[in-house]
Amino acid sequence: MAVVTQAEVWEKLGTVPDPELPDLSIVDLGMVDHVAIENGMVHVELMPTFVGCPALHWIQDKVERALAPFPATVEFVYHTPWTTDRISPQGRERLTAWGVAPPNRSGQPLACPLCGSDQTHRTSEFGPSLCRSIYYCDSCQQPFEAWKTL
Ligand SMILES: [Zn+2]
Repeated sequence: MAVVTQAEVWEKLGTVPDPELPDLSIVDLGMVDHVAIENGMVHVELMPTFVGCPALHWIQDKVERALAPFPATVEFVYHTPWTTDRISPQGRERLTAWGVAPPNRSGQPLACPLCGSDQTHRTSEFGPSLCRSIYYCDSCQQPFEAWKTL
């Protein structure tokens, strides 16, 4: 069997979507902590994202399928907590394109993902999922979701 390379593994991992935001991959989210290849076996270490958004078995299954026919093991690691800082620049762009404001640590008002205005305010701590809050844009007068910053 051909030997798989790190680059190929990362490329395949980039096809595994987040269960809630299918436009974003687990690579965009910074969930992939480590990839090891030994004797043709791929070992992937993933950092779970929000506690409220587990779907860990779903993700594990998708990763194993994406890496097939190469045998792969998936392990969830907890030595360092995942934070929203791990979301890649491409991931942040994709979040915005999806209509979800990316996490924001600057202390500045969140920019509206629809029109870019910073005239926004939070209307609800809890959106449709625990990871997201509901905001409202005073400029385009649309509600939008924002990922909580962790
Ligand atoms: Zn707006």
